[in-house]
Amino acid sequence: MDASPDAGGTNEAEAPLRHLLELQDADVHVDQLAYRRRHLPEQAALEPVLAQLASLDEERLAVSAERQQLVARELELERETAALVARVAAIDERARSASAGSYRDQEAMAAEIEALGRRRGELEELELEVLEAAEPLDARLAQIEADRAPLLLEAEAGRAAVAAAAAGIDAEILAATDRRSALAAAIAAPLLGEYEALRQRLGGVGVARLVRGVCAGCHLALPATEVDRLHKAPPGSVAHCEQCGRILVP
Ligand SMILES: [Zn+2]
Repeated sequence: MDASPDAGGTNEAEAPLRHLLELQDADVHVDQLAYRRRHLPEQAALEPVLAQLASLDEERLAVSAERQQLVARELELERETAALVARVAAIDERARSASAGSYRDQEAMAAEIEALGRRRGELEELELEVLEAAEPLDARLAQIEADRAPLLLEAEAGRAAVAAAAAGIDAEILAATDRRSALAAAIAAPLLGEYEALRQRLGGVGVARLVRGVCAGCHLALPATEVDRLHKAPPGSVAHCEQCGRILVP
């Protein structure tokens, strides 16, 4: 009848609660590993590299689009120049062969040749402008490529480091989860269910030890009478912290 607080938990009836505490430790371990898996320092180191690459990619896209417009403009000017050259050749041909051409025709052809010549000068100017506008864009694109190259290598190495770190922790998580499952299998379903529900609701901790009158779950001291009552309860009986509601193991 005398349930001494220093019995050492050797009683068969106390086994489920001891298992529950072990399960709690195993669950905390799994949670810590999962947290580490989500917050890999290797991933944190990789993020700024990826951000820089993304920013360069974005800029490259914008500059390339601008450059592409210049290419289109250049083609347009080239097409117009080619049409103009063909037109001049056709007029020349007609002028040479048109022995019967009237003076008016000759005059009209001369005027057109002159207008075409002026336009050709304009087109050359415009093409020059396009080339000048392209120069800084090409330089920027080359610089972006030069900046990207070491970042791509850094990102590749970073991804490999993340993968290696993740694989290591994943193996630890697998082992810890196996251990957790084995411990859980030894606990009766109702007690396990209650523990799981409490754990879900109370930040991952469903069961706590009573340490010198203090609940290790919420760190609040229990009234002396309550501590006394818990120590005198039959071994293995499931008690709860009055303050946080967790299963309390004296
Ligand atoms: Zn508590």
